[in-house]
Amino acid sequence: MKKTVWLLAGGILLLHAGLAASLSRRVVAYDIKARLVPDAKSVEGHEVLTWTNESAEPVSEMQFHLYMNAFKNNRTTFMKESGGAHRGFRMDKENWGYITVGSIAVQDGPDLTGTITYIQPDDGNPDDRTVMKIALPEPVAPGGAVTLVIDFVTRMPRVFARSGFVGDFYMIGQWFPKVGVFWNGAWNCHQYHAHSEFFADYGSFRAELTVPDAYVVGATGKRAATVKNADGTTTYTHIQEDVHDFAWTACPEFVEFREPFSLADPPVRTEMIFLVHRSHVGQKDRYVRALRNGLEFYSQSYGPYPYETVTLVDPAPGAMAAGGMEYPTLFTADTFSWLPRGIRLPEMVTIHEFGHGYWYGIVGSNEFEEAWLDEGINSYSEAKAMDKYYGADRSMIDFLGIRIGDVPYQRLNVIASGRFDPIVRNSWSFVGGSSYSINVYQKASLMMQTLERLLGEDVMSRVMKSYYERWKFRHPTTADFVRVAEEASGRDLGWFFDQVLYSPDKLDYGISDLRVYELAPPDGVFNGTRTESAPDAGPPGRGKQPASPDAPKTYRSEVVAARFAEWIFPQEILVRFADGREVRETWDGRERWKRFVYVGPEKAVSAEVDPGHKLLLDVNFTNNSRVLEPDGRAVRKFALGFAGWFQALLSLVSL
Ligand SMILES: [Zn+2]
Repeated sequence: MKKTVWLLAGGILLLHAGLAASLSRRVVAYDIKARLVPDAKSVEGHEVLTWTNESAEPVSEMQFHLYMNAFKNNRTTFMKESGGAHRGFRMDKENWGYITVGSIAVQDGPDLTGTITYIQPDDGNPDDRTVMKIALPEPVAPGGAVTLVIDFVTRMPRVFARSGFVGDFYMIGQWFPKVGVFWNGAWNCHQYHAHSEFFADYGSFRAELTVPDAYVVGATGKRAATVKNADGTTTYTHIQEDVHDFAWTACPEFVEFREPFSLADPPVRTEMIFLVHRSHVGQKDRYVRALRNGLEFYSQSYGPYPYETVTLVDPAPGAMAAGGMEYPTLFTADTFSWLPRGIRLPEMVTIHEFGHGYWYGIVGSNEFEEAWLDEGINSYSEAKAMDKYYGADRSMIDFLGIRIGDVPYQRLNVIASGRFDPIVRNSWSFVGGSSYSINVYQKASLMMQTLERLLGEDVMSRVMKSYYERWKFRHPTTADFVRVAEEASGRDLGWFFDQVLYSPDKLDYGISDLRVYELAPPDGVFNGTRTESAPDAGPPGRGKQPASPDAPKTYRSEVVAARFAEWIFPQEILVRFADGREVRETWDGRERWKRFVYVGPEKAVSAEVDPGHKLLLDVNFTNNSRVLEPDGRAVRKFALGFAGWFQALLSLVSL
């Protein structure tokens, strides 16, 4: 009795601790035993998955991602869409990758292996086996749960898109049967596409990872146990709650570094784990500094980093295709041993991929359908962090006298892009890979930067913190972001988002004309009477005298502001006069052009739209202003230094 009471009390305490610490609604609980078999380039897995039905309806079938089957043959949807290449890396046809589900059963219940079918919800391609469906013996009631036991073997491809091996380096991501998201009354379980990432539900993960002793292992979450086995292998147990995926890496050539990170405001305590390939150890301090910067920036800008570990994986030479990828609490970076410090690739990739721990990891938007919510918001965050720590004018490159910041770098891509796609579109529906990436990364980032300049930094900070706070550990959509932005700013932003998110058009305003005339005195026939030039006539009674060269002159200055592209944005126009006086005009920007006329003793000498450079989405800054030359001609003004010249150069070679 006493023992029972004690157990009960302990159970309640544990339950309480568990609830208090629960950051997400835990829909899934995975317990996986995995063994790396290097000779076969494969992982043998045994998975126990408990899935809870959080919806209001009974669910009688389940859908799973079998992502590794994207690399099974040259007829899969991924291979057809990509043509066998991804970000410049090619598929190795000697090393296809695939996952075989040997059995799936209800725990202590019926075997369901015979109910497996492969479905292709996106394109009907019968050769694509990246989505598996099973039929349950009885529906899972709302609030109920089912536990499945799955045996599988994953053959790793030679890495060319995120996951796979090169030599004895393994990046093992998207490797186990992963249940889709039951969302809005249906399974959301898309196929693996060439231009798309992932979507999954939150829960808890526990994995026992067994590798030959020589391998150094990193994985999602914190290490709970290390056990040396009699057969020359070691088993590492990792656990993590409140994440939606689990990835791991193994390589005998990793050098492991661990460093604590803490922050007082907001309070953060975590451990940074670096798995750096032996050949890149000279670059380690760059990774460490960049990750510290990332942890500080994201914690202060959005919310404290909530996990106990963060692991940076530095892929082996030759495995760059595994680099620059995010997984919960673990990401892959990229570098070369010879990379000069002024080319900030490892810094940018580290901050970007760490940042996905927030925009993807903690705020779990649907990367298949609205990739901008993670890539765009994260590229915006990355650029702000890079500018803060490395200087806005040199945050990407500061080498041999060439300096370029992250934001101008993002702009260059958007400037050169076509008008094929809007930002919001299913990831596999863009006209091509570059349209996908320009829209969801750079254009969406410039949209966020422009919004920040329109709202002001304080208001934008409120928007971002509110969005993070409201949607952390949940699945927001674009509409949810827009709602938060309008609420937190107190402004109607429909005009802004409707154009930028949903139309493929562009923004381009400028000054199309600046003209100045000297206004001569009245001359000609007025009311039927010929009138001589007034100043020459002189004051009454003194007769006609020659005009003095010092006599005050009158000028008529005309400024024409113009809209050269489709998007309609309110404009500010700054007109400067010869005496230094400035006039600021506003224009709703609706018509194709608007003329401003000034008559007075001073000439207008320059005119500029968007003088504060708020509208980073404007694809041509070189037409934004005109200045009056001494001979009265108005010319375009290049005001942007290197980026402007680079843009002019681009306009010669492309477009
Ligand atoms: Zn990204």
